[in-house]
Amino acid sequence: MRKIFLLSFDDGVVWDQWFAEMLNHYSIPCTFNLNSGLEDFVWHYDDHFPIRRLKLADSVHFYDGHEIASHSLHHHWLNSLTDDQLRYEVGEDVRELKRIFGREKLGFAVPFTACGEREVEIIRPLVSYIRLSEEKADFALPKDPYHIYINSLYNAPDVRGKIRAFAENDAAVSCFVMAGHSYEFEVLRQWEYMEDLLRYIRSFDFEFMTTMQFVEEFFP
Ligand SMILES: [Zn+2]
Repeated sequence: MRKIFLLSFDDGVVWDQWFAEMLNHYSIPCTFNLNSGLEDFVWHYDDHFPIRRLKLADSVHFYDGHEIASHSLHHHWLNSLTDDQLRYEVGEDVRELKRIFGREKLGFAVPFTACGEREVEIIRPLVSYIRLSEEKADFALPKDPYHIYINSLYNAPDVRGKIRAFAENDAAVSCFVMAGHSYEFEVLRQWEYMEDLLRYIRSFDFEFMTTMQFVEEFFP
């Protein structure tokens, strides 16, 4: 049985560099989904805790051994954009991230939620895959690389139960996608929680891949 475990973390915030170090320690690859148009953007968690983004050009090596994917240029709600705006938001981000990181192919992770079939059809020619934000309960492989759902946020109350159910499922091939943002470790004081969770995940016989590696193997 093959159990593929994917991590997909969003927004490219300053805490990614410490999270990447932690992941490296446990030899777990992650897909980091970045917005190339928001380097100077700061928002405040709970109205007071500043969430800052990395200067991507200065941060390329932080992500060595991990995957970079597009999260759109400006993190708009995709369903609020016209077809042309949507093509620009994804196409320009992909071009810019390829240039900064020197990578040939990029996937895409949806900012916020609300990515319907109109959005999927416009985005799919621009990227290698689409990771959606909605959760699904089963561990089946996606029907195609443009509808990759997540299985759990890293800090969902029942995340360990879901991971255990994944470990015990007896499909020949299955996959689990865990998502989140590294700023949550800081503002919610969950760094130790996250490290414990990585150890827990590591205790099973999962195959760890980036989302791109998964797509290349199962949707060549
Ligand atoms: Zn995001």
